[in-house]
Amino acid sequence: MALIVQKYGGTSVGSPERIKNVASKVAKFRAEGHQVVVVVSAMSGETNRLIALAKDVAAKPDPRELDVVVSTGEQVTIGLLCMALQDIGVPAKSYTGAQVKILTDSAHTKARILNIDEAPIRKDLDAGAVVVVAGFQGVDEHGNITTLGRGGSDTTGVALAAALKADECQIYTDVDGVYTTDPRIVPEARKLDTITFEEMLEMASLGSKVLQIRSVEFAGKYKVKLRVLSSFQEGGQGTLITVEEDKNMEQPVISGIAFNRDEAKVTVLGVPDKPGIAYQILGPVADANLDVDMIIQNVGHDGTTDFSFTLARGDLEKAVAILEGVKTHIGARAIEGDKTMCKVSIVGVGMRSHPGVASKMFRTLAEEGINIQMISTSEIKISVAIDEKYLELAVRVLHKAFGLDQPV
Ligand code: ADP
Ligand code: ASP
Ligand code: MG
Repeated sequence: MALIVQKYGGTSVGSPERIKNVASKVAKFRAEGHQVVVVVSAMSGETNRLIALAKDVAAKPDPRELDVVVSTGEQVTIGLLCMALQDIGVPAKSYTGAQVKILTDSAHTKARILNIDEAPIRKDLDAGAVVVVAGFQGVDEHGNITTLGRGGSDTTGVALAAALKADECQIYTDVDGVYTTDPRIVPEARKLDTITFEEMLEMASLGSKVLQIRSVEFAGKYKVKLRVLSSFQEGGQGTLITVEEDKNMEQPVISGIAFNRDEAKVTVLGVPDKPGIAYQILGPVADANLDVDMIIQNVGHDGTTDFSFTLARGDLEKAVAILEGVKTHIGARAIEGDKTMCKVSIVGVGMRSHPGVASKMFRTLAEEGINIQMISTSEIKISVAIDEKYLELAVRVLHKAFGLDQPV
């Protein structure tokens, strides 16, 4: 007998029929003698609808009240799934995050899980019930409802698996595993049987929304066996996230390509090329809690230089306003904002042992006339910032150039 945590995403519970489909999948696992804890997301589109509602009544919704509103999506699906399970003769009990309880810090809309009380869940499981927990939500020490950030139900699933020492955490979604890149952009993308935690962490942080980054961090830290599978397909093995690369296997140089449309660029033109200028520009930006990603300072000429950085698109206006405020003080000629950037990244542990990966990436993009505006690298990834209009082309040509469409 195994204890399994299964998380079903929004599309998988997007209609009454789909909720019944989830119920019958869960019933099948239980009939095989396993204990099952299920985590569900809100029905697809529901969280977006709730956020839009909040924005209809207030320009800047209060974060505490926003969490009260957006957490309701998951409360609906836990109840519906339990009813569907009971309807086919499976005892089931639902819990909201506060009922479990999933204790978080108080950072509304992006809270972190601190502790989970697994005792009530264990009791229900031992009594033969399926336990259904609301994803994406928790409660802070003062009893306020919190949410874990977009895609947070993945993290609820992994955190429960860690707390219960489950044999496996299965993430059921609308694709049958982790692919070499988003199959919606590149139809030739291949499903990976395994991917290392390290690579999955990079993919998630560079924009692959198949798993929320915190869920991957959690699984790595607490050694949770994590698998991504399709809720619409029977019998597949999905993709297993593994601790180590398989030393016996020939590693591909690149395992996957991630991309992020949500990028913007700020350029500070004509600043004096002298020590301290990077600090004078980025200091006020950091003080406003804006996360800067890539940075470039051009070679100076005539004693002045241009300084650019990227950040999330939603933060662009704020960053430009801050820099307009200090423009005279730092001696800049002008501040420019560009909303049409994106970031494309190639990821692979195989990069460590293969030189020439970066030059191949740059050559491939050059052959398509795609101008690279910024570059950043780490041991297992290379990212470029390019104009958003080239995103799909760049992903497709890189996918082909690195042979990701070929079976290994
Ligand atoms: P859920 O609602 O089940 O949580 P998500 O939409 O959050 O589902 O995540 C699944 C989606 O992630 C897929 O439909 C796919 O378009 C996208 N995706 C992005 N990158 C990848 C990738 N490398 N492999 C698989 N899916 C990916
Ligand atoms: N419903 C939440 C969202 O749409 C959480 C999740 O689906 O994981 O972001
Ligand atoms: Mg998701």
